[in-house]
Amino acid sequence: MTTPMIDLPSTACASPPVVRERGQHEVFCGLTSIIWLHRKLQDAFFLIVGSRTCAHLMQSAAGVMIFSEPRFATAIMEERDLAGMADMHDELDQVVARLLVRRPDIRMLVLVGSCPSEVIKLDLGRAAGRLNGHYAPRCRVIAYSGSGIETTFTQGEDNFLAALVADAAKPAAPKARARLVVAGCLADVVEDQFQRLLAAMGIDDVVFLPGRSATAGLAIGPETRYVLAQPYLGATAQALDARGARRIDAIFPLGSEGTTAWLWAIAAAFGIDRDRFDAVVAQPRKRARQAIDHYRGWLAGKKIFFFPDSQLEPSLARYLHQELDADIVEVGSPYLHREHVAGEIALLPPGVIVSEGQDVDRQIDRCHAAAPDLIVCGLGLANPFEAEGRITKWSIEFAFTPILGYEQAGDLAELFARPLMRNHTLTGRPANVEAAE
Ligand code: SF4
Repeated sequence: MTTPMIDLPSTACASPPVVRERGQHEVFCGLTSIIWLHRKLQDAFFLIVGSRTCAHLMQSAAGVMIFSEPRFATAIMEERDLAGMADMHDELDQVVARLLVRRPDIRMLVLVGSCPSEVIKLDLGRAAGRLNGHYAPRCRVIAYSGSGIETTFTQGEDNFLAALVADAAKPAAPKARARLVVAGCLADVVEDQFQRLLAAMGIDDVVFLPGRSATAGLAIGPETRYVLAQPYLGATAQALDARGARRIDAIFPLGSEGTTAWLWAIAAAFGIDRDRFDAVVAQPRKRARQAIDHYRGWLAGKKIFFFPDSQLEPSLARYLHQELDADIVEVGSPYLHREHVAGEIALLPPGVIVSEGQDVDRQIDRCHAAAPDLIVCGLGLANPFEAEGRITKWSIEFAFTPILGYEQAGDLAELFARPLMRNHTLTGRPANVEAAE
């Protein structure tokens, strides 16, 4: 038996107006994306060129991971570097030389720019070029910016992937032509699931960007189609477009319906027959729906408010509304790539506020006025809201947990349902308890 298909949404219909805000904001900088990137690329090393602040941020965000000799570190700029008393390029060369002797397994060294390195205009692109001359092909060196001036949280991954695409354009890169590139860092388990589903449809020469190996090579040309697996990849899409690759437009693979629409967009672009597609997705889709149904009672009708964090917010809100019947009050996103999220926004319920950027005090006022049942926000806001008697979900978990694809659709519902369940257990009251003023 095959299940009925959903079509890609029409993006032409009335989309909610977007509230643009600029002001005080509470978000991570792009360095934090190194925490999931370094786990994915097993032969790469991320060297942040920054201050003690950057090192502290990575230490607290990485938690216990810092005890497992992770493949990232910070080259800390001292006062004499900032005062121009030392040649930063010489110092960097020495740090890199020591690192590569100590870790001969590194095949790609990634120099990551920070606020301090940008403020003193240290040109890491030039440094990468120079170091490449010395270490390539044994170890390639690339650079990108993860600074708080330029990037917010997941945008760090975007800049890294754009740098990988640019690096692949270099003549020395291997030339294995890609027909389909899936862009966006995926947990290995999710990558394997997508690879299996696509292969079962007859699409088997798929390149994942990033892959598990930084040295696997990536050749892109006009025959390459690419699909974004994450909504925060504006610069990566631009870099792929610049190489002649063509984007497959789709909503993002969150939940049963999101994953189906995403896979179908790929299948249609490759001329796969609808019956074959339905046969491949029928079982995993059914499993995903059953897993989601398990949590519907906790989330149906609940008012949910999203503070901006990762740019995943429109997709998460669409999933909650479309598949769990939640009532979405506001969807905040640090940045909205209009073209890439048009499909998601068109599926949001009427009356929802979509906000881009942040003026945190005004947003907190709106949140208080809406009195939502669940607030999705960062760690800096979560405990103060909890102290007011409100229920929160830490948004950072959506970036660190595998949530894409059919098999993770139920886990994703659970991430939202868990704080409501916990509150119920602790208080014995229904989950939509009125917040104390
Ligand atoms: S890059 Fe900037 S915002 Fe990020 S930790 Fe370093 S100083 Fe702070």
